[in-house]
Amino acid sequence: MLDLWTEAVRSIEPLVKPAHRDLWLRPIECVGIDDGRIRLRAPNRYHKEWFEDNFLPSILKDMESRAQRAFKVDFEVLEDQAQQAKEQVPQGQQRDQSGPSRLPGAASDRRPSPPQPPAARPPQLVERYTFDKFVVGPTNQFAHAAARMVAEAPASRWNPLFIYGGVGLGKTHLLQAIGHEIHLQHPEWAVCFITCEKFVTDFIGSMMSQKRSSGGSSMEEFRTRYRTAPDVLIVDDIQFLSNKDSSQDEFFHTFNALHYAHKQIVLASDKLPAELPGVEDRLRSRFTWGLIAEVETPDLETRVAILKRKAELDKVILPDEAALYLAAHIKSNVRELEGALLRLAARASFQGEAITMELAREAVSKLMASAPSGLTIEAVQREVAAYFDVKLHDLKGPKRHRAVAHPRMIAMYLARKLTNMSYPEIGSRFGGKDHSTVISAVRKIERLCGEDPSVRSVVGTLESHLRQP
Ligand code: ADP
Ligand code: MG
Repeated sequence: MLDLWTEAVRSIEPLVKPAHRDLWLRPIECVGIDDGRIRLRAPNRYHKEWFEDNFLPSILKDMESRAQRAFKVDFEVLEDQAQQAKEQVPQGQQRDQSGPSRLPGAASDRRPSPPQPPAARPPQLVERYTFDKFVVGPTNQFAHAAARMVAEAPASRWNPLFIYGGVGLGKTHLLQAIGHEIHLQHPEWAVCFITCEKFVTDFIGSMMSQKRSSGGSSMEEFRTRYRTAPDVLIVDDIQFLSNKDSSQDEFFHTFNALHYAHKQIVLASDKLPAELPGVEDRLRSRFTWGLIAEVETPDLETRVAILKRKAELDKVILPDEAALYLAAHIKSNVRELEGALLRLAARASFQGEAITMELAREAVSKLMASAPSGLTIEAVQREVAAYFDVKLHDLKGPKRHRAVAHPRMIAMYLARKLTNMSYPEIGSRFGGKDHSTVISAVRKIERLCGEDPSVRSVVGTLESHLRQP
């Protein structure tokens, strides 16, 4: 009888992406089939639900047509059983449960919540970025499922989880949601959420104070904070490590220490590990050890659903028609979609009216008229200098080596695109350069954006930061 199951699973395997096969299909075990009942076992609730929604109907269909009979399914969830067993063990006899579990099935280590005041939420976690506020659609379904899996069973199997995708598509939201969920389920665990930029500045800061105080403890503190203390380390925008050799080296050791200790690591990036420029191979290869999941631009239905969800959360009444209009016109970036809704809501409430189609049309046409109002060339220069970690003075100065010349060209390009300044005006703000220098910089970046996805993504990231109100 079990063969019937094996055959049915095999029949759907070719239709399932390899990553999904490992993540969702293999962990489901068939423990017996008697009398028309199939007994299945799943490591946790989330696996069970995913399996029921995505695979079970096809498998059942296949089995029923082979066996010419109907089947019923009984599911056991290992996590629930472990939980029940634990609840029967008197307190104090439980084994040590501090820190994440070390083995697959980690979620089964969840203990019944003791009657204590809830532990404070880690300060870097923003309240609105939780799973229940994330809208799932075809383009983020896998990343969302992977994030939930890791949050349910940290450090059990998928380590690190590496989420990548373009700007404003929900990476930070998912990372934060993982942090929230783990904190909720294991309030005693140390969940550390940081941006990669913070890791780098902290590292540089510790090195400098180490030097000043000739061998003080500050590097040690840094290492305790990131290598020893966290049960879960979540690092956003890991592409920021590009071309920062000593920070990379430090992160390499941080990663190894945590991974070795079976602590969960979660990373987000705007690129695949293999495409991260200026990152050492040994680090890139580690980024691929666990699971890689992409978030892509959401389709129209998902964009509408996101708008409606945001409107509901902000208690804004958004007519369907207006939601559809916004979603149809703002396509590439959820952050922009959200911004448009906020502006629209502010406008409507200012005028004391409901959101109408007319207001929606106006909001979209404003967004399309490209220059964000009030953006200055100084803001562009500052943003670019900070992103590339070059001095503002050098960005505007005459130095010609690539490390400053490339950011300078990007800054000129963005200044031209996002402010109303002319070529000669822009040139004058970069230490008196000729207008032809600015024109050729703008052309060059335009060309590179067409040819080189990494330049496109950097420019896109900067542009989207600068467009934030
Ligand atoms: P990224 O880190 O990929 O640049 P963010 O996570 O910062 O993007 O997302 C930008 C904004 O869009 C956030 O406010 C986030 O809540 C929202 N957002 C993105 N995707 C979704 C989604 N699927 N459901 C709800 N909100 C989303
Ligand atoms: Mg982000």
